[in-house]
Amino acid sequence: MRAKQTLKWLHQSQVTDFSAMTDIAKTTRDTLAAHSEIRDLTVITDKTASDGTRKWLFDVGSSAVDAVFIPEDDRGTLCISSQAGCALDCAFCSTGKQGFNRNLSTAEIIGQLRYADRVLKADIGIVGRTLDGVQPVTNVVMMGMGEPLANFEAVVPALELMLDDNAYGLSRRRVTVSTSGLVPQIDELSKRCPVALAVSLHAPTDALRDVLVPINKRYPIAELLAACNRYLEFAPRDFITFEYVMLDGVNDQPEHADALIKIARQVPCKLNLIPFNPFPNSEFKKSPRERILAFQRRLSDAGIVTTIRKTRGDDIDAACGQLAGQINDRTRRTQKVIAIHAARTVGATP
Ligand code: SAH
Ligand code: SF4
Repeated sequence: MRAKQTLKWLHQSQVTDFSAMTDIAKTTRDTLAAHSEIRDLTVITDKTASDGTRKWLFDVGSSAVDAVFIPEDDRGTLCISSQAGCALDCAFCSTGKQGFNRNLSTAEIIGQLRYADRVLKADIGIVGRTLDGVQPVTNVVMMGMGEPLANFEAVVPALELMLDDNAYGLSRRRVTVSTSGLVPQIDELSKRCPVALAVSLHAPTDALRDVLVPINKRYPIAELLAACNRYLEFAPRDFITFEYVMLDGVNDQPEHADALIKIARQVPCKLNLIPFNPFPNSEFKKSPRERILAFQRRLSDAGIVTTIRKTRGDDIDAACGQLAGQINDRTRRTQKVIAIHAARTVGATP
């Protein structure tokens, strides 16, 4: 009962101090305060794009990570990060190019949702508890920086908080983990917290996927597809989403579509084509629009449900694969963090 009360205070009322948890005995509050702290992530930048997409850059000490809110007519999707950097080094990803910095803690992962939920509600005049029917964040996707399944033990408790009725109460269908294909962890997720699954396929043959998504050398396509089929027995939806980034001249030809059709017939799935989002020094180009449409048509004609992801927030570098693209320069970033801390200290009352 105490745990439920504490969760509600933390994630629904969003209190900043244990003393505000008024239905909990004072001695228990004192014990909580002696052993833990309530701390928000520090925001470095907060930008809103012309299409309404909003991106926060959070300072996580040695590094920075982003969360992106994408408002749509019927939903609000928050895209959050699981790691600072990523070790998996996919050829077309700016996070991969940064290398791996560190795993985020559960607090840092759920902290992105806690923060976004509060400020988005404040924007529309809601403070504290969730009001029925008014919910800025309706969906969470783990598609920000990092490979969520490579930080499994921190990610699962964060997912559990997203689902918990005493915290955010999202349904399993509205929480999506995106993975580049860590097969043992996909199996483990099916047992521990089977939320919706998106798999970054990006290539229809092992030869090409080995180059674009190097983890394929460890878990090749056949093993990945078998894991997807096993996952579906537990998944909240009856399909897996395959993500496929469209790279000019690399994986966007008719023969790639034909090979992809064969793959898609082996797993109940939907395909989501992602126009490549360029970042400084990337070696790839975005496929031309007509080629993406032709690729989609070829798959759709074969009966595969295929959508094209809308590019959102690219004027603030909030689109897929662009996260933290502007802070690669460590010195500049550190200076920015120091400047912000200094401004806060000056403005703060003791
Ligand atoms: N590590 C996880 C989740 C984060 S990336 C994964 O790889 O699935 C979220 C999605 O954005 C993945 O499908 C990823 O391959 C894709 N992506 C990465 N860089 C991109 C870029 N430059 N343009 C478009 N999509 C990109
Ligand atoms: Fe990591 Fe995903 Fe980027 Fe690959 S695409 S480097 S797994 S964040």
